[in-house]
Amino acid sequence: MIDTHSIMYITNRPDITMVSGEGSWLTDNEGKRYLDFMQGWAVNCLGHSNPGMISALEQQARKVMNPSPAFYNEPMIDLANLLTDNSCFDKVFFANSGAEANEGAIKLARKWGQLHKNKAFEIITFDHSFHGRTLATMSASGKPGWDTMFAPQVPGFPKATLNDLSSVEQLINENTVAVMLEPVQGEGGVIPAELEFMKDLRALTKKHNILLIVDEVQSGCGRTGKLFAHQLFDVKPDIMTLGKGIGGGVPLSALLCTDEVASFVPGDQGGTYNGNPLMCAVGISVIQQLTAPGFLDAVMAKGAYLKNKLLKLSDELGLDGERGEGLLRALKLNRDIGPSIVEAARLMTPQGLLINAPRPNLIRFMPALNVSNEEIDLMVDMLSQLIAQAPK
Ligand SMILES: *Cc1c(COP(=O)(O)O)cnc(C)c1O
Repeated sequence: MIDTHSIMYITNRPDITMVSGEGSWLTDNEGKRYLDFMQGWAVNCLGHSNPGMISALEQQARKVMNPSPAFYNEPMIDLANLLTDNSCFDKVFFANSGAEANEGAIKLARKWGQLHKNKAFEIITFDHSFHGRTLATMSASGKPGWDTMFAPQVPGFPKATLNDLSSVEQLINENTVAVMLEPVQGEGGVIPAELEFMKDLRALTKKHNILLIVDEVQSGCGRTGKLFAHQLFDVKPDIMTLGKGIGGGVPLSALLCTDEVASFVPGDQGGTYNGNPLMCAVGISVIQQLTAPGFLDAVMAKGAYLKNKLLKLSDELGLDGERGEGLLRALKLNRDIGPSIVEAARLMTPQGLLINAPRPNLIRFMPALNVSNEEIDLMVDMLSQLIAQAPK
């Protein structure tokens, strides 16, 4: 038994510790190996112990870890340039978590509203969306039950229905400053925005002179096969947030916006670790690897490969198909066996499988973006056994 009595109880964890990882594999304290299709919740986009990230971390650690956010540093500047060169945005602010980047997006939109829209402050968000665990981002989220959990909420986040334009239109009034959404809802159950909806939403927000904010904390950084998920829809948002994949496993996030929207002045925004060179150095390695020739095409190809395998499995076992974009996908079970499958997968021997069930009738896959087809085959074989053995 491991002694965990000092760890605050916030979730149910199995009685093991994870001690090492390589690529798509994790190893626990008893030496058991796990095929990892969770990768820290879509965080480790290059898998475990990526050599490029390790060397970036090592080299920067020897130079300087924290000169203070009062000064520019090289990795901060280089990563910001890399992001603006590869996107439709002009300005970047770095933070440490997805929630913090989204807090920044909310503040930026409200600031823009104060300056340009007669103090408009409402941000329309969506049912089942997930934007983080700070009070404002919980209020922005559409997770059932979260509205009363730590009441009172932060006001100003009316909820619309994803892929229903009129539900958005109905909520627009003189207080509306922005619409914020995940291009693919992650925690909500891997639900992609539809192409027409996204295009119409951009047109609608333009017509009313309100901002479009994309939360790409989960769907960004190559996850969908595009560097950024909104590029699947060929729309240009005003604000984008990144987290998870941008650090490939280290705590890094980013708030990006166009020049027109960049309205913070000194005193409005900050944070002790913003632009921390140790994390930004890793971010550079991540983005360079994601944008290397052929990398994103390979993600698209592997996404299609996984999709076909899942559809075949669904056919064989009489399930309800699958959905997703790139390597953010979910298998639709026809019954609420998700949590028990997740548990049984981890307990499999000699090798375990790490997957996740964002809803009881759904299994989500967020493998490393450099996962191999053989690893996908192995995962589907293991999953097939598990589902076949599950209660009918
Ligand atoms: C995970 C996630 C967040 C929160 O990120 P943290 O780093 O956990 O704060 C926000 N938005 C989306 C879409 C996410 O998936």
